[in-house]
Amino acid sequence: MRLGELPTPALVVDRGALERNLDTMAGAWPARRLRPHVKAHKTSGLARLQADRGHVGFTCATIREVEVMAAAGLGEDLLLANEVLDMRRLAAVVDAGSRVTVAVDSDAVLQAAVAGGVREVLIDVNVGLPRCGCPPEDAGRLADAARTAGLEVRGVMGYEGHLMLVADPAERRLKTAGAMDLLLRASADVGGDILSGGGTGTWRTNTAVTELQAGSYALMDTAYAAQDDVPFEQALTVLATVVSVNGSTGYAVADAGLKAFGMDHGNPTLPGSSVWYCSDEHTVFSPEDGAPLPAIGDRVRLVPAHIDPTCAMHERMWLVEGEEVVDCWPVDMRGW
Ligand code: PLP
Ligand code: MN
Repeated sequence: MRLGELPTPALVVDRGALERNLDTMAGAWPARRLRPHVKAHKTSGLARLQADRGHVGFTCATIREVEVMAAAGLGEDLLLANEVLDMRRLAAVVDAGSRVTVAVDSDAVLQAAVAGGVREVLIDVNVGLPRCGCPPEDAGRLADAARTAGLEVRGVMGYEGHLMLVADPAERRLKTAGAMDLLLRASADVGGDILSGGGTGTWRTNTAVTELQAGSYALMDTAYAAQDDVPFEQALTVLATVVSVNGSTGYAVADAGLKAFGMDHGNPTLPGSSVWYCSDEHTVFSPEDGAPLPAIGDRVRLVPAHIDPTCAMHERMWLVEGEEVVDCWPVDMRGW
């Protein structure tokens, strides 16, 4: 099949760019030093390419991601880097032969793990992002409580998400070091051999963790591309069809809108054009520098500003080499 034959809107992945991104990251964070976060793409077909590069441990954000990864045969070492209460679903995954470690940041979640039959945990430490994570000074006590309850404590995690998009790399490095000091101190109290954290935005600046939880690097988005020290290629675009053209005002309308893009980091971009706005099913844009308007039926490839929510809106992603469609993967970890 050719690109022009795909139904739109469609997630399109440039296979060469994806492979190069995976290789670049594997060069810096080889094998188990990287624990790829699957929430970015929610696609076991893509996770398999990451496992092929030796990254056999994965990070998940939802129980469903854990379940689908296990069912796909990628359950050697799954970390649910998030607080959940329905631990029985995770215990069922363990019973079926996968390894699952879950983040805990409170006694209540710890008790849920014990009651649900989960065996292994990481202590989730707040390193500055106002989200999950226990106060660093409470981590040791929580680890003791976990061990007393019979759980295996593998170490700590702390996600510095508030620092991913700090524009100045030097400032990001300094602030990341400060956040990771909190994690290192908690680690000294907790024990275990894992310090898990980091992401695409701190792939160069986080030098403290034993494993990096990066996800977006594989497919990328324009928010991360704006960072000077994040060199990964834009591997994913949303293919859309021009369905209306307003010649007198000078704009065109493509058939992908708010329901095809995660918009919290801004509008999608279209190289050579300026995007005016998105509505539910439309993106309105005009060519720059006096370039001619497209014709109805033309295809455009829009670049999302935020990859994770964009992928989660689509049922499948198409892999292309040039204009040739070479494969199709279901986005099989979407939903809950
Ligand atoms: N770890 C956790 C717990 C996250 O929530 C995220 C993203 O939000 C990441 C790591 C890093 O992901 P990315 O590489 O997409 O920034
Ligand atoms: Mn994200």
